[in-house]
Order: sequence, then structure tokens, then C-alpha cells
Amino acid sequence: MARSITEIRDGLTQGKYSSVEITQDYLDRIEQHNPALNCFISVTPEIALQQAGEADRAIADGNIQALTGVPLAHKDLFCTDGVRTSCGSRILDNFVAPYDATVIENFKKAGAVMLGKTNMDEFAMGSSNENSYYGNVANPWDLNRVPGGSSGGSAAVIAAGLAPGSTGTDTGGSIRQPAALCGVTGIKPTYGRVSRYGMVAFASSLDQAGPFAQSAEDCALLLQTMAGFDRRDSTSAEESVPDFSADLNHPIEGLKIGLPKEYFGDGLDSQLAATIEAAITELRKLGAEFCDISLPNANLSIPVYYVIAMAECSSNLSRFDGVRFGHRCDNPRDLEDLYKRSRGEGFGDEVKRRIMIGTYALSAGYYDAYYLKAQQLRRMIKDDYQKAFTEVDLILGPTTPEVAFAIGAKTDDPVSMYLQDIYTISLNLAGLPGISLPVGFVDSMPVGMQLIGNYFDEARLLNTAHCYQQVSDWHLQRPQAFA
Ligand code: GLN
Repeated sequence: MARSITEIRDGLTQGKYSSVEITQDYLDRIEQHNPALNCFISVTPEIALQQAGEADRAIADGNIQALTGVPLAHKDLFCTDGVRTSCGSRILDNFVAPYDATVIENFKKAGAVMLGKTNMDEFAMGSSNENSYYGNVANPWDLNRVPGGSSGGSAAVIAAGLAPGSTGTDTGGSIRQPAALCGVTGIKPTYGRVSRYGMVAFASSLDQAGPFAQSAEDCALLLQTMAGFDRRDSTSAEESVPDFSADLNHPIEGLKIGLPKEYFGDGLDSQLAATIEAAITELRKLGAEFCDISLPNANLSIPVYYVIAMAECSSNLSRFDGVRFGHRCDNPRDLEDLYKRSRGEGFGDEVKRRIMIGTYALSAGYYDAYYLKAQQLRRMIKDDYQKAFTEVDLILGPTTPEVAFAIGAKTDDPVSMYLQDIYTISLNLAGLPGISLPVGFVDSMPVGMQLIGNYFDEARLLNTAHCYQQVSDWHLQRPQAFA
């Protein structure tokens, strides 16, 4: 069965199969494998087959858009008109949005088909998908291990072949880290590149949506459709969107790539480091030039992130109060009781922990010591990158410090969980784009490599990843149980 979007698109336009057929194939695979993997919170077969039927009619009429008839899965944090948007939380278990997020709207306009909404850590808070109200997701490479998070469902569907493409969001690593742990390709664009309208907010100054797929080539196609200025998002960038797909084949001869020494030090698994080294050798053969660089404030990114993200989430999540939407407790005695019990029953432990820490960090007397300080350090982290990009075109490192860990291994230790994002989080603080692509295996589990670009330089990231994927086949490997 076709696994790449490009292949599916060609098959559809050449009449090899219909969208209804390919959509039904994916729905069958979902029915067969989702019970073991738990990738989906909602599967939407009626919508999928209806959209597929429309796509087939459009194809017959010669009215073919970028993704006409291509089935996709969306993280359950993008609002979808008429379909539940739970954000992996009990508090939104009954929430059906009355409108589509811009990302969803863009995919509809491009003719894509929606298979369903994927599982995720509650409100995108987590690195293992173990914080979902709907239960954890299993990693298709080893069902006893986590798929990463928070977009764990969206990464696992690609690895297991339950969808050829999916969407995720990345606030501190939630696209790149699960992409790495599941052996798929995922890109977090520059902050502002993709509209956040209708994407339920976690930390608004960090959140950014992006795609997952088998390859950079497929990600280019998806990002192209997702991206663009949107006046409904006040931080949306008025940047034109290049034709990412057309830019994939530039030779990377002479490309200057920086290796930050902070990304290759203590804490990085040595076998994983060796896998990254091997990928560097391949890129060198393609003509890329490497030099050592330093991001001296990289070690501050985890503490800075966890002050800013928690402060912003405590504010963003105040809207879930049991009054306007979502879960409401039974028989509230008064307004105070309504707020307390609705939120107390609706939110899970990690979300509560973050709301409490964030509220504390923002409270009078502590604001300067925590939030303001974190903002100042955030600027220093951004400046390190700006300096590096005067010397190099791209920055390269591992996506994660280790491969996927066992389910339950870190649930009692939030700090060790937070450290999973040590290489990804600073990009969100700086607003920079990054891509994770598979470059090998350690312990039979996939390893991800991260490429970091300058602002709005997604084309170069996709181009470089594509060139690597032309000379390697890691991205084509599939877990045997889902081959
Ligand atoms: N793992 C990080 C967190 O728990 C990042 C999550 C994300 O990018 N949404 O906040």
C-alpha cells in the first residue's frame, strides 16, 4: 500500500485508485491497529469517505488541488467544525468546535481528506503521550515504549502506516521529539509561519503547528498547504510562502553547517551520538561543510521554557471554567464551587502542576524574579542563535538525548521528562524552524537528527533533509508489525 503522499497523489491523478479506495484502506488499517496503538482519539470514517467521494468527483472534473483526495490525520487540538476537539483532556471531552482552525480550513481547500483526530498529551503538555485522558499511545517500533509527545499520536500514525501525513504542534519539541522517537520526519516552522487561529493555545508565544510524514518531500507539500498569513492570528507573519516542493533538489555543496558543542556533550547517549556522526559523514559526502560553534546559553533553555510556558498556560487555560464550554461539575453550590470542581475534575495532574507553577511565577512580588528574568534570558538564547547564523547556514544536532524510553519509566520524575526536550526547546524560545529526520537505529529504536534553520528558512531545511533522504533509506523503514 502506498505510504508516501507524493505517491498517493500521483496514483490518484493517474487513476490507479480512487480516493475512496485509498481512504478505505487507511480506515481498515486504523480499525485493525488502533486498538493496540491508541493513536486516535476520534476516527471520522463518515467524514473521510464523504470527502474522498468529493475528491474523486473533483479529480474526474480535472479540478485537482495540492492534496486532492489525500487522507490525513490531525492532532486533536486543532478545532474541527462539528467534530470533537478534546486536546487530550477530560475538560474538553464533550467539546465540539463550531468552526475550523485555519490549518484545517487550508487542508479542506487543498482537497485533503480527514481520517480522524490523534491522541496527544493533555493540552500538549508532555513528552511521552502519557498525560492523555484517553490513555497513552504505544510506539509502533516497540509497544512497550512511548512514542514521544505531545504529538505522539500524530507521529505514531505515520510510523504504523495509519495515515501518510498528519499535523502536530510544537511548543518545546512536540513535533520533532515524537518524530525522532517514531522514526518519521517532522518540521516545526518559524514562529508565525502557520496560523494559530483555532489551535487551542498552550503557550501562545511558543506554539507553532507543523506536519509529520515519511519524508521531507511529503512534509514540504503539507507545510506549503498549512502555511501563510492569516489576519485572524495577530502573530501570523506577513511572509510569502515559497514553493517548498520546487526547492527540494538544490545541491547542498558548500552549505555551511554548525555543530554546537553544547549539543554533543554530557547527557547524549554515546551510540546515538555515533549515529548522528554517521549522518554528518553522509552530508559531508554531499558537499556540506561543518564547523564547530557554541550556543553558550543553551543550558538555560529548559528552566527558561518552564517558567514562560507555565506562565502562559496558566493564563490561557483560565478560559476553561465550566461556564462557557467543556466539562461542568454536577450540582455546583455556587460560582466558586463550579470553578473549583469543574477544573479540579477536568484537568489532569500535569496540567494542574503547570497552572499552579505558572500562577505562582506571575504573582505579584515574583513576576520580576521569574517571568521577567526568564524573558531576559530568552533574549540571550535568541541572540546566541543570531550570532551563529552570521557564520553558518544551518545548525545540526541530535533531536533527543536518547531513543524512546519504556512506558512508565519517567512518569514519577517530571524533571527527567522535561529534559527530553533539551535540544528542541531553545528553538521555540528563539522562534526558529527545525526539522527532525530519521538517521538510524539504536537498540532497534529510531534515532532522529535535528537541523535548525534561520528565520523563514524552512526551504533550506527541507532541501537539506531531502538531499540526505535521497542517499539514505532510514525514513523508508517500517516496524515489522505494521509493514
Ligand atoms: N515536552 C514539552 C512540554 O511538556 C513540550 C511540549 C510541546 O512542545 N507541546 O511542555
